[in-house]
Amino acid sequence: MYLLRNADVYLPTPSGRPDILVGGGQILRIEPGIEIPERYCEVIDASGLVAAPGLIDGHVHITGGGGEGGYATRTPELAISDAIAGGITTVVGCLGTDGVTRSPAALLAKARGLEEEGLTSFIYTGHYSIPTRTITESIEHDLLLIDKVIGVGEVAVSDHRSTQPTFHEFARLVSQARRGGILSGKAGVVNIHMGDGPRGLALLKRLLDETEIPASQLLPTHVNRNPTLFEEATAYATRGGFVDLTTSTDPVSLEEGEVKCSSGLRAVLDAGVDPGQVTFSSDGQGSLPVFDAQGRLRGLGVGRVTSLIAEIRDAVMLERVPLETALQTVTSNPARLLKLRGKGRLAVGQDADLILLERSSLEVHSVMARGRWLMKNREALVKGTFE
Ligand code: ZN
Repeated sequence: MYLLRNADVYLPTPSGRPDILVGGGQILRIEPGIEIPERYCEVIDASGLVAAPGLIDGHVHITGGGGEGGYATRTPELAISDAIAGGITTVVGCLGTDGVTRSPAALLAKARGLEEEGLTSFIYTGHYSIPTRTITESIEHDLLLIDKVIGVGEVAVSDHRSTQPTFHEFARLVSQARRGGILSGKAGVVNIHMGDGPRGLALLKRLLDETEIPASQLLPTHVNRNPTLFEEATAYATRGGFVDLTTSTDPVSLEEGEVKCSSGLRAVLDAGVDPGQVTFSSDGQGSLPVFDAQGRLRGLGVGRVTSLIAEIRDAVMLERVPLETALQTVTSNPARLLKLRGKGRLAVGQDADLILLERSSLEVHSVMARGRWLMKNREALVKGTFE
């Protein structure tokens, strides 16, 4: 057992400095003045540190992604040390453009590997295409029969790399995800890759207008990729939609008008959006392709999962977003929307996924996942099998 004392505790709501007792992979107690004989637990003085839930990264290309510039541009797999460095204890893996040389089965295997190494992992079945590739015979079968499958994605719309889905194709896919989700007690969320195309969120808005499917079934991502889409997404969130902002970016994209994630959070809050409607994800290990106006590839980078905590830090330090509001975009909000039980909040009975951050700099100091230290005192204690 571990007893953490003197940390500023964010559940993510700020809760003063209660002690936190951890044992058996769970949070056992959160209250002031816990007394346990020292032979039963290690006492950790967390003075000067913030204790918060381990971060949930809801969109990571854990098997690698990319390939938009040919085979040599396929990006590498996620190494667990990157997640640990970024304070991430739960990842949701997804495929992207390539659903031929990348498969949902390989994604599932990688997710299981990360779990064995120490993280909690889930996956979206499918990829950019509609209809999409699955592990078993359908989206509903995957959701009902494979524990790690929590939804579908990332399916692409308003993008030159999409399958140019019609409204009916899109609605059919979302309905399958909804049924599979309901029957399995999972979220069945459809994670939607938004491209730069002028059609923007049209398919999503039409779905909410013309069908009975609720907004919580849809999570459009990369909505900060250009100012027009961002403005439309802000209005979409104002009317109850959920939006996911992507944290990994590069200087070229920012120069060309991408809205930096932390500034985007400030802007949606200023527009009156309920902070509970907003999530951040890294798009880690995805390629960051830059296309010119003719759709020709101009350059390529790789997204980093560590961008998630970097944007939380910038939201707090540069944009003056309260820490609890910034934290909820990567803890309680994704846990609630994706129905990740035991995740995203510090509370008795929840999984002992927690991070300690330096109070002044918000640098990651320690990371615990299911009661096990992955990083302690800035030293990584766990590495990937081949690292
Ligand atoms: Zn994407």
